[in-house]
Amino acid sequence: MVNTTIRTTKSQEIFNSAQKLMPGGVNSPVRAFKSVGGQPIVFDRVKGAYIWDVDGNQYIDYVGSWGPAICGHAHPDVIAALHEALEKGTSFGAPCVLENVLAEMVIDAVKSIEMVRFVNSGTEACMAVLRLMRAFTGREKVIKFEGCYHGHADMFLVKAGSGVATLGLPDSPGVPKSVTSSTLTAPFNDLEAVKALFEENRDEIAGVILEPVVGNAGFIPPDAGFLEGLRELTHEYGALLVFDEVMTGFRIAYGGAQEKFGITPDLTTLGKVIGGGLPVGAYGGRQDIMSMVAPAGPMYQAGTLSGNPLAMTAGIKTLELLRAPGTYEYLDNITNKLANGLLQIAQETGHAACGGQISAMFGLFFTNGPVHNYENAKKSDTAKFGRFHRGMLEHGIYLAPSQFEAGFTSLAHTEEDIEQTLQAARDVMSSL
Ligand code: PMP
Repeated sequence: MVNTTIRTTKSQEIFNSAQKLMPGGVNSPVRAFKSVGGQPIVFDRVKGAYIWDVDGNQYIDYVGSWGPAICGHAHPDVIAALHEALEKGTSFGAPCVLENVLAEMVIDAVKSIEMVRFVNSGTEACMAVLRLMRAFTGREKVIKFEGCYHGHADMFLVKAGSGVATLGLPDSPGVPKSVTSSTLTAPFNDLEAVKALFEENRDEIAGVILEPVVGNAGFIPPDAGFLEGLRELTHEYGALLVFDEVMTGFRIAYGGAQEKFGITPDLTTLGKVIGGGLPVGAYGGRQDIMSMVAPAGPMYQAGTLSGNPLAMTAGIKTLELLRAPGTYEYLDNITNKLANGLLQIAQETGHAACGGQISAMFGLFFTNGPVHNYENAKKSDTAKFGRFHRGMLEHGIYLAPSQFEAGFTSLAHTEEDIEQTLQAARDVMSSL
C-alpha cells in the first residue's frame, strides 16, 4: 500500500457518524468503497473536472456522479438556468412546457424514441419499460445479460452488475423467486445462448434488455455483430429489443449507442446525462408501444415528481451544451489518450491488463483478457485494483471505487488533467 499522503480526518469522522445513521454509512452501496479498502472520502463540492473533499483535498474526477456530469460538474450555464427556474418554484406536479422541450430534444436525438415518458431515476425507467414489454407482447419472460445492471427492481436482480457485482452478492434476499423465475440470463456477446433461450421458451419471451455497451461489469463493448444479431433474433421470435442507455445515452454519442452502432431497438431507457445532475430517468420508443402507457393506454405508471421543472431545466441545458460542434470528438480524443495511456503504463510496469474506451466511457481490467463478458471480467485481480485505486486517490485522482464500474470523462477534462492522471498511474503502478 502506498503511504497515505492525503488528510482524511474529517472524512473519517463524518463517515463514522454516517455508519450509525444509514446502512453502511451510505445511500448507495458502491460509495462505501468496500471493495477498495473501505474508507470512502466525503465530498464537499464539485466543479468542472474536480472534486474537493471535506478535508480540502482536490481530485481529478473520473466518476462524474456516475455519469451525469458529462459537461463538467456545476457548469455555469446549467447553474444559471437552474437559478432562473428556481424562482418559479421547485415542483408543479402538473404539465409544464419544459417537459415538451426536453421530450423534443430526446425524440430528435434518439432514433428509436418516437414518444417518451420522464421518471426520476434509471431504476424507475427500467422497471417501467419491463412492464411495458410485458404489456405490449402479452408475454412474461425477459432475457437479460450476466453483469448488466438495470437498476434495483426485483426482476433485474439476477446476475446483476454494478454494486451487486462489486460486493459479490448473490441474488438479493427479499426478491421473490416467483418474480425472478421469468428473468432468463445469458452471457454478454453470446448470440448462441440467446438463440437457445428463445428456442426453449417459444412464444414466451417478451424481449431482450441490455446495456449495448456494458458499464456495470467494468467497460465491455459489444463484439462485432452482437447487436445486429440480437436485432435479428428478436424480430425472428416476435420479441422486443430494449437498449438500456441510462449510462450510454448522450455519452457514447449524442444519439447514444444506437447511433454509434446503427442498430435501432424498439424501446430505450435513459437517465444520468438527461437530468444534468438532477434526478431524471426516461423510457421511450415506438409510438404504437408507448401508446399503451396510461393515460393514453392501460399500462399504469406514474410519479409525483416526474417532469420536475428543475430537473427538466438541467437536462435541457446539458443537452444544449452537448450539441455544440466538436463535443464528441473532443471527448473521444481525451478519453482515448487516457485509456491507451493507462494500458501502456500497465504494460511497461509489468501488470497484466486490458481495457478500452468509446467516446467518454472507458475501462481498465487487471487481467490479460480479452474481456467479452462478465465471466472474463471476474478474472481481474480485484485486490490489485483496490491498491491501484487507493494509490490514485492519494495522488489526487478519483476513479470509480470498483473494478466492475466504467470510468467517465467530461468536457471539463483537459489534456493536462489526462497527463497528470497518467503520471500518477505510472507512479502508482510502479509500486503496486
Ligand atoms: N441502468 C444502467 C445501465 C445503469 O448504469 C444504472 C445506474 N448506474 C441504472 C440503470 C439505474 O439507474 P439509477 O441509479 O438512476 O436508478
